Order: sequence, then C-alpha cells, then structure tokens
Amino acid sequence: MPRARRRKKKKIRKVFGRKRPCKFCITKIDVVDYKNSTLLTRFVNDRGKIAPRRITGTCARHQRILVRAIKRARYIGLLPFVREHYR
Ligand SMILES: [Zn+2]
Repeated sequence: MPRARRRKKKKIRKVFGRKRPCKFCITKIDVVDYKNSTLLTRFVNDRGKIAPRRITGTCARHQRILVRAIKRARYIGLLPFVREHYR
C-alpha cells in the first residue's frame, strides 16, 4: 500500500520566499500619495493590475490605502487601467 506521498502542503512558504516586511511600515508612511505615480507603478504589474499582497509584502492596512491611491491615480489618468498591446 502506498503510505508515503503525503507531503503536499508546507511548500507554499518556500515558493514565495521569506516573509517580506511591509514597505510602508518601514518608512512609516501613512498616507500614500496618489500623485506619486513612480511609487504606485511598482505595485502594479506590467498589465496595469494591482499586485496582490503576497507578492509585494504589503500589510493589509497599507494595501488598502495603496489600492485606493492606485484607483484614484487611474481615475485622473496617471496610471493606466489596462496597458494595451499585450499578447
Ligand atoms: Zn504596512
């Protein structure tokens, strides 16, 4: 009978590497400036989508602030909703 082969979990941590500290917590930024598009583009992938927390390492509180800033920046045209020409 197959007894081994029961090791599937526990790997998730390794894939994403060490737990990254939140960038905004370190610098103690509480208000993310929506006009700072150079900062915001770092939290957006090449398609213009907002990167999830598990990729960027942002904490829940700051991710919420960040998302609001990104959406605001999109609305006034600093960030693209969708980057075109992607195939
Ligand atoms: Zn944070």
